Amino acid sequence: MSNDDAPERVRRIATLLEDMYGAPPVRREDPLDALVATVLSQNTSDVNSGRAFRSLKERFASWDDVRTADVREVADAIRSGGLADIKAARIQRILDRLHRERGYVSLDFLAHLNVRTARDYLMSLDGVGPKTCACTLLFGCGMPVFPVDTHVLRVARRLGLISSRCGAEGAHEVMGSLVPSDLVYSLHVNMIAHGRRRCRPQKPRCDGCLLARECTLGKENLPE
Ligand code: SF4
Repeated sequence: MSNDDAPERVRRIATLLEDMYGAPPVRREDPLDALVATVLSQNTSDVNSGRAFRSLKERFASWDDVRTADVREVADAIRSGGLADIKAARIQRILDRLHRERGYVSLDFLAHLNVRTARDYLMSLDGVGPKTCACTLLFGCGMPVFPVDTHVLRVARRLGLISSRCGAEGAHEVMGSLVPSDLVYSLHVNMIAHGRRRCRPQKPRCDGCLLARECTLGKENLPE
């Protein structure tokens, strides 16, 4: 894909995905909820991390209660999300830092920063990488920062938006520069929907996929 074609192609792909899955309603979360939920989603399925997040919110009345609890109690609450001991300690370190620096436990101040400053701050937190950072900014702050999860990475590679050798970190950079701000939310949500429902890791359902003509694998799988 030449750089000249890229914006037009990304827009075409976003439109075709909306034809398949609709324009997703914009969902906003508390930024700290979004951050913790994404930390919990590391190395596990959405079902397991969702269960762990709900359990954490039910067990503790506030994020400050999570911060001051015994780390074993936090780990118990998120056991269903896997790597519970590591994630519990990571979450407490983040909450501790917020409390130490600001005197309260919240990420609401991010909304008053520009995207670059907000990103730099989140990336400086222990255990926060590009995906967690981007999810927090997109879902928690409404900033147009494109997160790349495992579904987005696979679909983007198959569509040739990124190279097949590009890893998750590089993919954040490439997609961040490719996707116009007004398409970030829809394209991210619909690429995940596409990766779950049709463009699955094994045996993608290329027959009937509206993206087939945009896709290397799809063209191979299409009848002549
Ligand atoms: S044509 Fe197949 S591989 Fe390409 S995006 Fe569609 S489902 Fe995925």
